[in-house]
Amino acid sequence: MTRPLYHQASAELSFAATVQAVSGAEIALDATAFYPAGGGQSADHGVVRWNRGAAGVTDTRKDKATGVIWHKLDGTPPAVGTQITGEVDAARRWRHMARHSGEHLLAQSSVRINPAFAVDAVNMTHPECTLDLRGDPTEADVRAAETLLRETLARQRLTLDTPTVPEEELGQYPLRRETKVRGQVRLVIFRDEDGQPFDVSACGGTHVPQASLAAPVVVLRTERIRGGVTRVVFMAGEDASEYLGGIYQEARALAQTFSVPVERLTDRVEALRTDLADSKAEAAQLREKLARALVAATPPDAQGLRWLELDAPSLLVPVLSDVPAGELRAVLAEGGRCGIASARPEVHAGELLRAALAVTGGKGGGRPELAQGGTLDPAGFFAAVQAALTSAQSS
Ligand SMILES: [Zn+2]
Repeated sequence: MTRPLYHQASAELSFAATVQAVSGAEIALDATAFYPAGGGQSADHGVVRWNRGAAGVTDTRKDKATGVIWHKLDGTPPAVGTQITGEVDAARRWRHMARHSGEHLLAQSSVRINPAFAVDAVNMTHPECTLDLRGDPTEADVRAAETLLRETLARQRLTLDTPTVPEEELGQYPLRRETKVRGQVRLVIFRDEDGQPFDVSACGGTHVPQASLAAPVVVLRTERIRGGVTRVVFMAGEDASEYLGGIYQEARALAQTFSVPVERLTDRVEALRTDLADSKAEAAQLREKLARALVAATPPDAQGLRWLELDAPSLLVPVLSDVPAGELRAVLAEGGRCGIASARPEVHAGELLRAALAVTGGKGGGRPELAQGGTLDPAGFFAAVQAALTSAQSS
């Protein structure tokens, strides 16, 4: 079994130890400050050094059966008996501690909003952490818990206390969540200055020495994941301030392009959406008007067929609409977009287009009165339609 130094002082990240075992790229030490993955918290990384070398620690895991903690190295491991010094990657660990403490504190705040809310599962392995709460909390409940926690962290000095107590004494502590751990149980308690506990949990994770170091704890969103369980997606500590600061910078840069203060960005975007809808409606009207003018300017041939060539593919459908009885239209737009409209019962537009595209290559089809597609040989399209029509009429 490895002595877990991370349980004594979570902020002490440098230590000395002796190599007890080597297995492949992994080493076991008599004691370690490297936290092994577990309880929703990711493994520590860092470096170990000895008199003739050093290696990075890229993973830490605990063998549940033996209690031995294994450190995966990115270099040749030192021999059994070597004295090493270890140094946990502080930036990574502090983020993990803030996330984990943020989870405990947000869960406690939720229970204070409604004692029916209880933790179902947690995950703190990414900056976006999740806290799944039973008891069907609404978005408003979760926001109330977030506010309660923000006020608590800003106004109270809650310090960490991590006693290990025999299970018989657990009744003396207001545990937020029952524990399955038996024998000696490690508690994670955040107490106020009068010694009153704000939150008590049985937990083997690492935590910030003062609750305010997990601030800000920010709820990003809530999701209903299954019957009665709400997933609270949150960020804590450096992760949260870094992310929100970045979002602000992006929002401000966007607001500047619209020459409005960032607080008015929503109004500005709303106004733009309205403008866009108006412009789209106006453009549709203009396209219809232009289509009618183009059709009027293109007289039908002797067989009552209008052949229209267009610049804009967006005019295709308007030009193929409102065809008077007895008329046929074949339309080709830039890029090979094409279509046929038929107001003759004996001419099926979809079949005619397919027959023409069988010759020119391309894909398309449609109903008896309207068909659209794309041809691979725009220059040959009209001739192919004419040929297909002639062959249909003669058969
Ligand atoms: Zn925990």
